[in-house]
Amino acid sequence: MKGSSTPGVEGDRALRDAGLRATRQRMTVLDALRERPDAVTAQDLHMELRQAGEPIGLTTVYRTLTALADAGFLDTFDREGEQAFRLCRDVEHHHHLVCEVCNRVEEIAADEVERWVHEVADRRGYDVTGHRADIFGVCAACRG
Ligand SMILES: [Zn+2]
Ligand SMILES: [Zn+2]
Ligand SMILES: [Zn+2]
Repeated sequence: MKGSSTPGVEGDRALRDAGLRATRQRMTVLDALRERPDAVTAQDLHMELRQAGEPIGLTTVYRTLTALADAGFLDTFDREGEQAFRLCRDVEHHHHLVCEVCNRVEEIAADEVERWVHEVADRRGYDVTGHRADIFGVCAACRG
């Protein structure tokens, strides 16, 4: 995990750090993710970019999202067997609240989870290298 408290990432630096050249298409993908509160699949993002007049291919969108996720810049979510991606504001380790209606994602810190993870692992003699715990539900706006 990164120790920096800088929110989000700067486009071209993020790409360089991920070992990717900052092409216009890749910057477009990153810009599209920057302000959105929801996690998005490669197909949905591709469709939106095309509708906005961006001449970008689905493969490029998919590869860029995957490379950025592999480099730790994006968090990934499983949506009915498809991967959805989100650029989280918090670069520190965190958990998520995920709305299953509008796909909005909120980042949350969860000290209880961290304590529980280490207790369980210690008890079984494991060294913790990672864990995931996201909460799924229906957000306040969607509940009306
Ligand atoms: Zn996140
Ligand atoms: Zn919602
Ligand atoms: Zn945690």
